[in-house]
This record gives sequence, C-alpha cells and structure tokens, in this order.
Amino acid sequence: MCQTHQSHVLSVSHAKANFERTTIERRALRPHDILIDIQFSGICHSDIHSAFDDWGGGIFPMVPGHEITGVVAAVGDAVTKFKVGDRVGVGCFVDSCGTCEYCQNDDEQYCTKGVVQTYNNLDYDGEPTYGGYSQKIVVTERFVVSIPDQLSLDVASPLLCAGITTFSPLKHWDVGPGKKVAIVGMGGLGHVAIQFAHALGAEITVLSRSLNKKDEALSFGAKDYFATSDPETFKALAGQYDVILNTVSANINVDAYLSLLRVDGTLVNVGAPAEPDQFHVFSLITGRRSIAGSLVGGIQETQEMLNFAATHSIAPQIEVINANQVDEAYERVLKSDVRYRFVIDISTL
Ligand SMILES: [Zn+2]
Ligand SMILES: [Zn+2]
Repeated sequence: MCQTHQSHVLSVSHAKANFERTTIERRALRPHDILIDIQFSGICHSDIHSAFDDWGGGIFPMVPGHEITGVVAAVGDAVTKFKVGDRVGVGCFVDSCGTCEYCQNDDEQYCTKGVVQTYNNLDYDGEPTYGGYSQKIVVTERFVVSIPDQLSLDVASPLLCAGITTFSPLKHWDVGPGKKVAIVGMGGLGHVAIQFAHALGAEITVLSRSLNKKDEALSFGAKDYFATSDPETFKALAGQYDVILNTVSANINVDAYLSLLRVDGTLVNVGAPAEPDQFHVFSLITGRRSIAGSLVGGIQETQEMLNFAATHSIAPQIEVINANQVDEAYERVLKSDVRYRFVIDISTL
C-alpha cells in the first residue's frame, strides 16, 4: 500500500497547447483513500476554459477532467464505503476541510477553507491536483460516489458535473409539480436539466438561440421551446416563470430574462461568463424577483442525483471518443457541435 501509482494521462503543458500523452504518479494510499481505474471521463466546457487559462491562475502541466467514472482497484486500510470492484464516480471536488459549517451540512462545495478541485488546484499538502483524463486517480472515500447498476459508466460520467450542477439548483429552488421552469441553453447542461426538471414534475420551457434543437428538447420532456433570437419570445412569455435556470456561460440580457419571471421568481445562473452582467434594479423590485447562482452540489446530493437519474431513466446523450480526439473535441464544443457531451474512453489512452 505504500507505493505510488503510475498513471498515463493526457496533459497540456501550457495554455492552449495540444494534448500530449505523459505519465504522472498518483499518491500512495492513505488509510481513507481509494485507487480508481478510470474507464470514462467526460469533457466539460470548464475543462476548456481551464486548459485555455481563460479564467487565469492555471496550473500547468494540467490534466483536466471532473466527470470521472471507473472501478475501485484498491482501498486503504480504513475504507468502509467501498471495496475492490465497485463502480464509482468522482466529480468536481476531491477534498474539503470536513469541519466547517458548510462541510458539516453536506455543502462541501462552499467549504470556508476552500474545497479542493479535482484538477488545476493545490490540495491541502500543496500538491497540484490532476483530473480524469488519466488511467488512475487516488481520492479520499468521502469524495467518491457509487454508480447505480442501472447506469452505464460512460453515460453516467456527465452526471458528475453537468448532472449535479443542474439537479442541485432545481431541488434548492423547489422545482416540482405546479412550477413553471424555463431552461436557458440546450447544451451539455441544458439537455440534462430538462430531464431532471421533467422528472421532478415541473412544466418546462426551453429558451435557446434558434429552434434547431426543438424536437430533441421536447423528447427530453420540455413542453415548449422558443428562440431567444426572436424578440416576440420575450413579449409572449412575460411574467410566466417561477424559476429560470440559465446554463449559458455567455453574457445575457438580464433585464429581458427577469421580465419573464412571475412575482417572487428567481433567475438562477450556473454558467459563468468571464465578463460582468448588467441589469436594472428596477427589474427586481417591480416583481420582488431574485438573481441567484449555484455551484455544482455536495457529495451526498450527488449520490442522491445519481440514484434519482437511475430511478427515472435520466441519461445524458453522449458521443464517446478516443484519447487521440480530445483536441478536435474541444474545437467542436467551442462550435456547439456536439449532442450533447463528449466522453473519453480512457481504455484508449
Ligand atoms: Zn464541469
Ligand atoms: Zn469545510
């Protein structure tokens, strides 16, 4: 148990570099650690922002990937949650302080000490973290979730970020029967958000730039679909929604979207544009409306989300690629040319 674990990875040496095959050492197992043989790793839009260093502060060389699924290969002496052979997943975080108010409340993502991100971050020992474009990863058991039998490991992988990022705010803002919800954006996050909101019992409208993906949105459970490029949309839908979940990471006309909310409605953002948004406070006070944001979800809630997805047959639509196709996949994500999530088959690494 005291030796490190060599792992082939896909890494970028600097911002916007092409991916190359290199090798890293995963740490020797501590008592609560789990060694995972990774089988699939989804490509999240934030992988691209990180690898391109769009947000600054990138730690290179970088191994992205926080939609990880695989099988337990070894466990530390004190592990109780998992055994060798279990099907497991790892999402956006791999550690937190465990003692602050938010960790105690299963909201590790808001840890006051700072949650340790799965890649492009330093762990509490000051070592850089490397993500899922990798054959192996070592993670403390508290940050590992179980993949239900009904979910295949490739389809499950996008749930670890895209899934929980949309499920958590839908639950927090009480989306369910009798609620009208608008989902903005029909990409990796949006197409999963529709499925969760539908399974929770809400009435769903999708707002997307064009009508291109209308039929698919309706098949995922949406009732209506409108193009935001058509100014008539904002007149026709004024004052209708309890919750608008914005999954788009480009700047939006915030006032226009706020006008679609009922009194007490909330515009919840999960996409993060690099530039600030602007709005008139008037848009809030005339309807006691709120603008909010939400970051991924806690570990217990991630497990709840996976179980819910298994029970309700919720499945991200994926395109499985091999390890040589990641640069090309990034270009296609930037052109919105994917329905709806790329997943890397790590056995090709
Ligand atoms: Zn992500
Ligand atoms: Zn904490």
